[in-house]
Amino acid sequence: MPASYLTLTRKLGKALMSSARKLRRAKQKILQKELKKNLKQAERAMDSLPKKCDECDAPFDRTKKEELDKWRIAVYDDGRIHLVCDGCTPESVKNESR
Ligand SMILES: [Zn+2]
Repeated sequence: MPASYLTLTRKLGKALMSSARKLRRAKQKILQKELKKNLKQAERAMDSLPKKCDECDAPFDRTKKEELDKWRIAVYDDGRIHLVCDGCTPESVKNESR
């Protein structure tokens, strides 16, 4: 019967529409959660940064912007992270990022 078929698709359409809306809302929630998580991770990463150069023990002053620009984070394949000062950064690395 065409009539019931139409009704059925309408009902289906409505259900699909509302579930799509729910899905969108759920996605937004997930996105916001991810964003918060990433921010926290970034903060934690900053907090866990060493306070000095891992190579020569030069103190690292996080509050100086020019130091932030010069110092580098060396990430090793096994996940270790080393903070290195300007003096300990190989010239080849410095030239690369320029
Ligand atoms: Zn150093």
